[in-house]
Amino acid sequence: FGGEVEARGAELGSLVLRACYTKVSPSVQVENPKLVVWSDSVAKLLDLDPQEFERPDFPLLFSGALPLVGGLPYAQCYGGHQFGVWAGQLGDGRAITLGELLNSRGERWELQLKGAGKTPYSRFADGLAVLRSSIREFLCSEAMHGLGIPTTRALCLVATGKYVSRDMFYDGNPKDEPGAIVCRVAQSFLRFGSYQIHASRGKEDLEIVRLLADYAIRHHFSHIEKMDKSEDLSFGAGQEGSPVVDLTSNKYAAWSVEVAERTASLIASWQGVGFTHGVLNTDNMSILGLTIDYGPFGFLDAFDPSYTPNTTDLPGRRYCFANQPDIGLWNIAQFTTTLEAANLISKDEANYAMERYGNKFMDEYQAIMTRKLGLAKYNKQLISKLLNNMAVDKVDYTNFFRVLSNIKADPNIPENELLIPLKSVLLDIGQERKEAWISWVQTYIQELVSNGIVDEQRKAAMNSVNPKYILRNYLCQGAIDAAEQGDYEEVRRVLRVMQNPYDEQKGMEKYARLPPAWAYRPGVCMLSCSS
Ligand code: AMP
Ligand code: MG
Ligand code: MG
Repeated sequence: FGGEVEARGAELGSLVLRACYTKVSPSVQVENPKLVVWSDSVAKLLDLDPQEFERPDFPLLFSGALPLVGGLPYAQCYGGHQFGVWAGQLGDGRAITLGELLNSRGERWELQLKGAGKTPYSRFADGLAVLRSSIREFLCSEAMHGLGIPTTRALCLVATGKYVSRDMFYDGNPKDEPGAIVCRVAQSFLRFGSYQIHASRGKEDLEIVRLLADYAIRHHFSHIEKMDKSEDLSFGAGQEGSPVVDLTSNKYAAWSVEVAERTASLIASWQGVGFTHGVLNTDNMSILGLTIDYGPFGFLDAFDPSYTPNTTDLPGRRYCFANQPDIGLWNIAQFTTTLEAANLISKDEANYAMERYGNKFMDEYQAIMTRKLGLAKYNKQLISKLLNNMAVDKVDYTNFFRVLSNIKADPNIPENELLIPLKSVLLDIGQERKEAWISWVQTYIQELVSNGIVDEQRKAAMNSVNPKYILRNYLCQGAIDAAEQGDYEEVRRVLRVMQNPYDEQKGMEKYARLPPAWAYRPGVCMLSCSS
């Protein structure tokens, strides 16, 4: 559905009409480009021999300076709601897809260069990316995968050898930063906004919404297309208070439910590890339920439900940690509204997808929190009491659950010994708070005793869902500081640690430490949208 519209440079306000993409080639300038870091596990997905990373022309190919044989470079057109407001056309302003690759398992993978130069969607910006934000995107993509959370992947990161002007600090003075390009990999980069843009343009373009929905279903949800009316899949039937929605009679309704449910599971898994995306605009919502667009993201250190890593999100905190589940629903509502506007689903079907989002989120979230605490069944009171305590005492969201697994299910432990296993995470708390924690631990132990799970077994299960290592912003910053001096070893080391975040790793203790004081300076713990 593209190609009719040729790249016309990046005139301010230029619109690309009646097309889903524009053919455009990378135009970034390079000077002795260098491979900073790469992922062997993504290479495997692409049937790429890891020796290829050593090819002298590899940095040229993956900066876009040399074309890939058989590639069909293009930039996607999409729109989106930014901070709750419809923003019109956005599109790939600095990402250029090189093409799709079909691997030996028949999987389709799209390769995309982020920071490869201007496209018709660049608007006022330069189409480039800096080393700092590229390292963050690369490391977090692979760290999320290591955690078992759906995400776009990153094959490699190339430093262009050129400088890019950025005003990263708040003094308004531009600063030259090294440029870089990440090669992102996903089965599809389609977003909610890829559909919204066409529905926003009036009646004639509704047909494009349908074509693009058919495309997504055919290539990425083929089980829906194969769904037969004779199968009994009338999910909604019989549920009190909700209209009966027969998903077998409308593939678009089945699709909207699946997108809603994937989004719900994704966000539940973020809440489990303390990931805060920071810019949950509808153009950053993948239809495959992948984490997409790593900008000013952050993992919780001290538990704080109102934490937002994004300075652009202040003072409203729309995208703070605790709001993510509601924002997911708000975004799904925009998506289903789009499908409804294109006459693909009915109002009842749209409502049904939203209802399923809510149910799926609660199921997954409760299951995740239950596993994090090593319980046999969900205990709402115990969990909310815990989160409340953690917020009051600013307890580290990662390290707490890791040491919690050391508690013994023994009701006879004397009161003054109950907090010993938690000593390293309950810092500087007064007598009154100690009592609150003792009382919580007593209830927790009672629950463990009644569950009857053997301590060692519970510890192993808890450690397999509570990461030891998490990509804290200060760890990214350490890797960035070294890389900006030309030393890429730290980026590679952080990648290795984050690939196995649930394992104890010899000699890597320091990567599990709490942030040092310098981590709270602006630009480390908080970033802006445009970084
Ligand atoms: P984001 O907030 O990262 O989701 O980006 C919003 C929009 O701005 C998207 O259309 C991006 O492609 C575009 N954008 C962000 N940074 C740049 C840049 N340096 N050059 C061109 N477009 C950009
Ligand atoms: Mg984006
Ligand atoms: Mg972005």
